[in-house]
Amino acid sequence: MSQFVRSTTSKYKFGAHISGAGGISNSVSNAFGIGCNSFAMFLKSPRKWVSPQYTDEEIQKFKDNCKQYNYNPLTDVLPHGQYFINLANPDIEKAEKAYASLIDDLNRCEQLGVGLYNLHPGSSLKADHQVQLKQLANYLNKALKETKFVKIVLENMAGTGSLVGSDLQDLHEVIELIEDKSRIGVCIDTCHTYAAGYDISTKESFEKFWKMFDEIVGFKYLSAIHLNDSKAPLGANRDLHELLGEGFLGLEVFRLIAHSDHLVNIPIILETPQPKEEGYGEEIKLLEWLEDKSEDDKEVIEKNDKLQAKGAKSRKEHEEKFATKQKKATAKKRKAEVKPEDDITHKVRRTRRKEE
Ligand SMILES: [Zn+2]
Ligand SMILES: [Zn+2]
Repeated sequence: MSQFVRSTTSKYKFGAHISGAGGISNSVSNAFGIGCNSFAMFLKSPRKWVSPQYTDEEIQKFKDNCKQYNYNPLTDVLPHGQYFINLANPDIEKAEKAYASLIDDLNRCEQLGVGLYNLHPGSSLKADHQVQLKQLANYLNKALKETKFVKIVLENMAGTGSLVGSDLQDLHEVIELIEDKSRIGVCIDTCHTYAAGYDISTKESFEKFWKMFDEIVGFKYLSAIHLNDSKAPLGANRDLHELLGEGFLGLEVFRLIAHSDHLVNIPIILETPQPKEEGYGEEIKLLEWLEDKSEDDKEVIEKNDKLQAKGAKSRKEHEEKFATKQKKATAKKRKAEVKPEDDITHKVRRTRRKEE
């Protein structure tokens, strides 16, 4: 008997990114073992371009396990695509290679009967961002035509500039270009959101963020949530996941998530740096515990204080790193601002001299 009994009363589908080691069908029993109501996994090795195909036996075992453990593969499973898939890459040869891997992933989803697929939208690198967004959308349209039912869920990112999806506007622009809008969605990662500069750590900022999300992207596209605290401060553009409550977000945002009407019925997946999957079991229980807790609940405040104390040293380190980085960036910017002005004055002087 598992230590973490799967909740039948929770309003939310809290789950985690699970290992599929030893066969993709194992991810189902592993998820059940730690009390997940939804789960994620990799469809193949995240570090290799090519992996062996599933055997018919393995596919059947996955489907049987979903039935046995009562997961609907169409709505409760959100596999994560390979990190290196970049469909926005201006290097077409590389983009084509990424596309082949994407199609292989999507085919795997459909073989397993899985209805959702989480994808990092990639990076425009040094090319024109808008042009590369169009390239990404073209590839997604093509992929949707080549497959039957799986929905591609684009994850928001923690970076800036060339990284597609750090700005919610990017996600809107890509969705606008998708022909079959019933098969495109968005996954909001709490750590990425915060690191990209969108504050969600307080009730006020959390509500403001979702209002903005609804205006720019639209709730109808919200298909999943990734739950992570952030090791790096607001706007640091660092993708560094932290255990719930120990990072810069703190416990409040997760309590708010466990009360949000918009997040019912979608996979809410933990990706925190747990050394063992049992740790996810504990975090799922923590989230379910938060469901009926108010903002000023004494126990919640105590729990938050305890977790914040555990993460204090790491937060301090990252705060200092961020401050140093900002200082350097400001100095560089100032230097860059001074230079062209100097050039102009020189030029002006030179032309004047000529005229004289
Ligand atoms: Zn991701
Ligand atoms: Zn994520």
